[in-house]
Amino acid sequence: MIPPPAVVVIGGGMAGLTAARTLVRRGLRVTLLERSGRFGGTVDARMLGGFRLDSGAESFSTRSAVVPALAEELGLTGRIVTPDAPGAWVQLPGEDLQSAAQPLPSSGVLGIPADPTDAATRALLGPAGALRAARDADLPPGPLATRPHVSLGELVRTRMGEEVLTRLVAPVAGGVFSADPDDLDVDSVAPGLRSTMGRLGSLGAAAGALRQAAPAGSAVAGLVGGMAQLRDALVQELLTAGVDLRTAEQVSGLTRDGAGWTLATEHAAGRRTLSADGVVVATEGGAAVDLMAPALPALLPERPGSVPGVALVTLIVDSADLDAHPRGTGVLVARGVDGVAAKALTHATAKWAWLREQAGPGVHVLRLSFGRVGDTAEDVGLLTPDADLYRHALADASALLGVRLTDAAVLDRDVVRGAGALPHASVGHRERVERIRAVVADAPALAVTGGWLAGTGLVSVIGDARRRADQLADALGAGGPL
Ligand SMILES: Cc1cc2nc3c(=O)[nH]c(=O)nc-3n(C[C@H](O)[C@H](O)[C@H](O)COP(=O)(O)OP(=O)(O)OC[C@H]3O[C@@H](n4cnc5c(N)ncnc54)[C@H](O)[C@@H]3O)c2cc1C
Repeated sequence: MIPPPAVVVIGGGMAGLTAARTLVRRGLRVTLLERSGRFGGTVDARMLGGFRLDSGAESFSTRSAVVPALAEELGLTGRIVTPDAPGAWVQLPGEDLQSAAQPLPSSGVLGIPADPTDAATRALLGPAGALRAARDADLPPGPLATRPHVSLGELVRTRMGEEVLTRLVAPVAGGVFSADPDDLDVDSVAPGLRSTMGRLGSLGAAAGALRQAAPAGSAVAGLVGGMAQLRDALVQELLTAGVDLRTAEQVSGLTRDGAGWTLATEHAAGRRTLSADGVVVATEGGAAVDLMAPALPALLPERPGSVPGVALVTLIVDSADLDAHPRGTGVLVARGVDGVAAKALTHATAKWAWLREQAGPGVHVLRLSFGRVGDTAEDVGLLTPDADLYRHALADASALLGVRLTDAAVLDRDVVRGAGALPHASVGHRERVERIRAVVADAPALAVTGGWLAGTGLVSVIGDARRRADQLADALGAGGPL
């Protein structure tokens, strides 16, 4: 019997794990090589204060059924939950931080309000800002609905004005992508928004329609016990299916070898070379281009620039004052808020009922993130030493939640850093991705996937990894899914 074609997947983040699963289910022999000591990439969990807490992604967008479908296939269906109402707040600049904090309207997407005239949105924008935003309903869709190269910032500014941009959309975009709306490709971060606007006539109507299309009625959902279980279940299934899973093995070279590929790898015990009939590159963007460029030099100009590093500080605190969840599920921080360095705070025990039940009254899990595009080495972020980050996190949590938290209240703490962990889709992203895909399509038996191409977030990453792996399996003449 001729053995089935062998495929090597480079990178064991969610993209690589998902691709490996698709390939092995198509009957291929699969090896997955991961540089670090564990699988999951930016999805991971850590034990802290006796809880197993997500230290990377902690939820997924409900805009598509991609993640629930995978969770169901992995036997995790019953664990899908939506966050508790009443949603997050935004901290705006102001003399008095407490009165400058407002609940975020929950009717739209990425901070774009479905109805800028509703009371909560008016309170946030002020009368003049709300009036300007309401003009969106009367403006014709115009070229912004169809023109190429439109940023999220330009779309929002033109349709709804500066106040909506700086007070709503920028804090949300900063929290999710660590990026400025003027640098985000709207079609990549809000797929379908512009075409829906063209159809329905206004940005507000489009934002409302996209939000309503989210099946769970909530923009995000999570898993009881944390999102890292998706990674755990994937790894378990791959092991059972016989995938050769390796950690601490970095791929350092990729060369064409007839119709297939030769890979050079480095690991603690030395180097080795492997032959493969097909390869999936599922690393971060810089590493992916560096690996593929010797065979495909046309990719060199497309190498992504550096992206901001993020630092996450998790605090477990003992504070009965937080039982009232003073800022809902958390706070997104607008630029220019004096004395606060964090860009976002998640009150995890307010957001997730399962975690609250585990923690019990008076014990709270707070997660603060630092690092935005445009940060310098002096800004609080990836490069700040742990002890300083902790001091900032404690002070910021006190300021943002309006509750004094001292060292004595902190039961446990943790810092996680991700250099270049949040690639973002800057304007022209779609065209750049198309150029990269076209170059890769000319190479035999090669697929490339991951957040740097598909877009940040588990929905984009998992959906794309499945598609690319299926295309590669087709090209290698694999059978249908097992
Ligand atoms: C702090 C944080 C919070 C987030 N929260 C959310 C959230 O709540 N919801 C959501 O949907 N998304 C969230 N995201 C985004 C989401 O986690 C990512 O979009 C997604 O996990 C990216 O997966 P990936 O496989 O493309 O990349 P990665 O996770 O970066 O994986 C790439 C892997 O490739 C490996 N690698 C690189 N080079 C090599 C090499 N030469 N050889 C072998 N291996 C190599 C790396 O070690 C890494 O493990 C968050 C991201 C971060 C950083």
